[in-house]
Amino acid sequence: MNGQRPDISGLRHDLDEVDGGIVRLIAQRAEIISAIAAVKEGGSAGIQDAERERQVLDGVAAAAADLGVSASLVRRVFRELISDSVAQQARRLSGEAGGRVQVAFQGVAHAYSDAAAQKYLAGRGLDGDLTGFRTFREAASALLSGRADLAVLPIENTTAGSINEVYALLREHELFIVGEETWKVDHCLAAAAEVPLTSLRRILSHPKALEQCTQFLESVPQAVATSYFDTAEAMRAVAEQGDPATAAIGSPDAAAAYGLTVLRHNISDLTDNYTRFVVLSAAPAAVDLRIPCKTSLILVTGHEEGALLRCLEVLSGSGHSMTKLESRPRPGRPWEYMFFVDIEGNAADPRTAAALDELRAAALFVKILGSYPAKALRAPVRPGEVGGQQPPSRESVTGPAQDPAEMLEAVAAAPRPAVSRSRHYKLVDRAARQEDTLIGVGDLLIGGDGFVVMAGPCSVESQDQISTTARFVADHGAHILRGGVFKPRTSPYSFQGLGWEGLDLLVAAGREAGLPVITEVMAVDQVQRMAGAAGILQVGARNMQNFDLLRELGKVDRPVLLKRGLSSTIEGWLAAAEYVVAQGNQQVILCERGIRTFESATRNTLDLSAIAVVRERSHLPVIVDPSHGTGSRPYVAPMAWAARAAGAHGLLIEVHPDPAKALSDSEQSLSPAEFAALMRHLADVPAWPALTSSAR
Ligand code: PEP
Ligand code: MN
Repeated sequence: MNGQRPDISGLRHDLDEVDGGIVRLIAQRAEIISAIAAVKEGGSAGIQDAERERQVLDGVAAAAADLGVSASLVRRVFRELISDSVAQQARRLSGEAGGRVQVAFQGVAHAYSDAAAQKYLAGRGLDGDLTGFRTFREAASALLSGRADLAVLPIENTTAGSINEVYALLREHELFIVGEETWKVDHCLAAAAEVPLTSLRRILSHPKALEQCTQFLESVPQAVATSYFDTAEAMRAVAEQGDPATAAIGSPDAAAAYGLTVLRHNISDLTDNYTRFVVLSAAPAAVDLRIPCKTSLILVTGHEEGALLRCLEVLSGSGHSMTKLESRPRPGRPWEYMFFVDIEGNAADPRTAAALDELRAAALFVKILGSYPAKALRAPVRPGEVGGQQPPSRESVTGPAQDPAEMLEAVAAAPRPAVSRSRHYKLVDRAARQEDTLIGVGDLLIGGDGFVVMAGPCSVESQDQISTTARFVADHGAHILRGGVFKPRTSPYSFQGLGWEGLDLLVAAGREAGLPVITEVMAVDQVQRMAGAAGILQVGARNMQNFDLLRELGKVDRPVLLKRGLSSTIEGWLAAAEYVVAQGNQQVILCERGIRTFESATRNTLDLSAIAVVRERSHLPVIVDPSHGTGSRPYVAPMAWAARAAGAHGLLIEVHPDPAKALSDSEQSLSPAEFAALMRHLADVPAWPALTSSAR
């Protein structure tokens, strides 16, 4: 290049060539998928194969890592490609050849329902004329009178629950569910101009959207929340009125369409806020048996005792897993209830048809709302793995020579603690629960045979710092992103953390890298708000015996990571965990982070023996924090490897893009290169023999 700067237009040309190549490869991939679909068409096998999908994702992530490309980016891209090819195969099996349909929805253009309807049509290769109606009922009448072929209506929201009016329409009319679609709701606040939140007097939105942003609305008490029949309509009204004291809640898309300025993004109480839509038709759909299917129904049980249980037994006894069960008052019958039920299965499948017949015999009333291709299914959960390794199976650990039957006998014969050994706790005691407790965070399971790595900076310092770290640790095998935003510092003059603003940065960085986040909660009044955003709530060593805080954490449905106190015994630590569990929240992960001893060569003395003791005495998972445990960078990796070998269920590690510049815990924070080395060798450390009650 003889010292000259490369010509930007030349580089852009090169980029265009590469992009064209990517599109051609996607087209080539689609052709192969279509050939596979043709082969499958002749057989009876289902079109979705979770194991194969996992292999593909692991394969491309490994290839990306070899090339120095972000593995999390490549995973995201391939997840989209795979979901598209499943849809392509389903389309082929359903014989949907495209075409034009008339679609009714409730709301105006750019409403969430509009977006969901378009997504549904695109997934099926259909073109549509979309018409918005004022109410759900009007949209349904368009369908019943033949003015529309399909209606796309919201049926439930993961924050606000079922939408009763739509269930009422399904109960009253001959309408059938023929499909479903999901939409991730990212509410924003938008106004006609950039104005401070304190100057707002009115906030308009659909009542469900207002309900989903309760915590945000409480932070602007001078603005009166006003119901509007649609989120997009509220945006349109704000644009038309041009009053700077009025704002609306709705999608960023609608804000842009009506020329509004977004004042705040992501203001829902919960970050994972999804709405599920049903696609309705006047006639039921026939869905190929190889397509994963769901059937929805309304059920009214008899008056005799155990009536509901009998109905549920029919479904579970016939191997149908239930994805939804909700009870609602039965109209006109005070204190009687009906149930909305979704099961996995296709009413055209003889096995499902037989179960539904049996259900009719056991219940007072059953209305089948339709069988349709399933989209909204719980993500399959997986135990944490290191470097793509599978957690060791019980056989591989106990030795392949052993006969499985013998092993089972050994399990049965193993001595088990019959009674609690402590006066201070009972629910966290092994005696109360033989199996290891498994705690779900996103699609990850913590505990049992899995191994999870939580990594990130001691403190969130800036957007750049946290997103760089997030991407790096995700690409090197971390499962969860850590970052403190409220910091318990020894000196009041030290950096105290970025607070709520830091939490937003942490959550955004985690979302971008595909990682749930963990952060420390210091006070009772932070619990609810933090529980809305963080995957795991951390209780710091200094707060291990903050009993009010522990009790409050026992009341939220969020995993809690409880650090061992600086000078706490294991018994005291388990008793602290009992405070949380006794309030009803069993999701406690213990974390050994070193204790104070007379030893002064390390910041704390990391007590690895605590792992063995805790695993024996309690069913809760226990992880290790070698960063605080040693306080010194060179000791972190060896102690991390030792912790895995000693049976920990995971690690909590401090990583900083430039440790020397870290605003807290600089001495113990690993550089990206050091973290990469830790992870590389961690995969070589044999995981501790899978330990259940049998091995003790
Ligand atoms: C932390 O994890 O950053 C922290 C403050 O830890 P500990 O409570 O163990 O000191
Ligand atoms: Mn720290």
